[in-house]
Amino acid sequence: MKNIQSIKGTKDTLPSEIHKWQFLEDTFRRVSTKYGYTELRTPIFEDSALFHRGIGEGTDIVNKEMYTFIDKGGDSVTLRPEQTAALIRSVVQNNLLQLGTTSKFWYFGPYFRYERPQKGRLRQFHQYGAECIASPFPESDVEVILLANSIIREIGIEDYKLNINSLGSENSRNNYRDALKSYLIENQDGLSEDSKRRLDINPLRILDSKDEKDKLIIANAPNIIDYLDEESKNHFDTVINLLSQLNVNFTIEPKLVRGLDYYNHTVFEFQSNALGSQDSFGGGGRYNGLIEQLGGKPNPAVGFAFGVERLIIILDSLNKLSELESKPDFYISSTSEKYLDKVYFVSEVLRKRNFNVQNDLVRKSVKGQMREANKLGAKYAVIIGDDEIAKGTIILKNMTESTQVELAFDDIEKHQF
Ligand code: AMP
Repeated sequence: MKNIQSIKGTKDTLPSEIHKWQFLEDTFRRVSTKYGYTELRTPIFEDSALFHRGIGEGTDIVNKEMYTFIDKGGDSVTLRPEQTAALIRSVVQNNLLQLGTTSKFWYFGPYFRYERPQKGRLRQFHQYGAECIASPFPESDVEVILLANSIIREIGIEDYKLNINSLGSENSRNNYRDALKSYLIENQDGLSEDSKRRLDINPLRILDSKDEKDKLIIANAPNIIDYLDEESKNHFDTVINLLSQLNVNFTIEPKLVRGLDYYNHTVFEFQSNALGSQDSFGGGGRYNGLIEQLGGKPNPAVGFAFGVERLIIILDSLNKLSELESKPDFYISSTSEKYLDKVYFVSEVLRKRNFNVQNDLVRKSVKGQMREANKLGAKYAVIIGDDEIAKGTIILKNMTESTQVELAFDDIEKHQF
């Protein structure tokens, strides 16, 4: 019988990789807390209507990528393809918004999109993100960008690009959409089939196209910046002025629109050359209309998400995380199973002192046990043999320096290792 394999586009997180995930998750929690964001967790699957309403009918996610199925009760449910819509659903349903102040949340977990798997693109992937709800002001856009930047820095990525743009108010965005559509219709003979199809439903999405033919046409398309109304311009100016004053590096990217329907005003994206063709490792923006669209009271909001697998690809390319792999402090061995009680006594004393301790559970020879201690990268090996038992001592071997000392059994509790 053939062994059953994991599903295409999904990945096991193996013990040899887990330290990276634990380090990132710790950093997400620690840095989000510094900025006053609290964690919110929602179920992995939701009513399919939530994503249809929240993400938008013209998007690739809703059109082609959702894992949607009818459950045994006849209801249509969807594995969440992103977090924002579900987070807003939860915030509205649980009345989490407080009058007169912002509510700020972060999240981390698995997301699901039926995409063509390649480097940095999976069908089950992970995102960390944050949302700041209930401030219409540009300083909240700046705060989420600062939080995102802090995370990137604290995990050790220095070489990356932050691209930023504004879609303006709904009104500006609609005016621009019309202008862009007219331009694209005039030039539609040169567009890819995919883009021709998008012309009617979501022309803004064409600006994200990676097709070389499309790129030529997009290069001369109108820029949204020229369609911003006064208020939208002021909002954007404040964002970029504040970022400049705080020495945040960014590039204004006039064609950056991010395909999702719910964005307005500020949109941004993080890029790294370590990623190949899928070079964006995160992005976000303001979404003032979404909460109302999902049935809540109108409330402005801004947020972002990182793709965690992509952060790991970047960190791997920098070889930054190998030293975080967890290695035992001690490997406790003996020359005979007669001394198992001593082996476990010593192990427990050291664990109480918060050291990581490993034992041999398959009764290897002393030589075999030393080989294993070495392979595991233990700092010290303890050896308990006939002589040591007779003298009430242990041998403490420093595995990196290859030196050893004898230690009184009773000193293990206090010895400075
Ligand atoms: P989005 O929700 O599409 O704005 O994506 C935010 C980030 O999630 C992207 O910048 C990627 O880093 C990551 N991401 C999106 N889709 C995938 C995927 N299929 N596989 C891996 N990472 C993804």
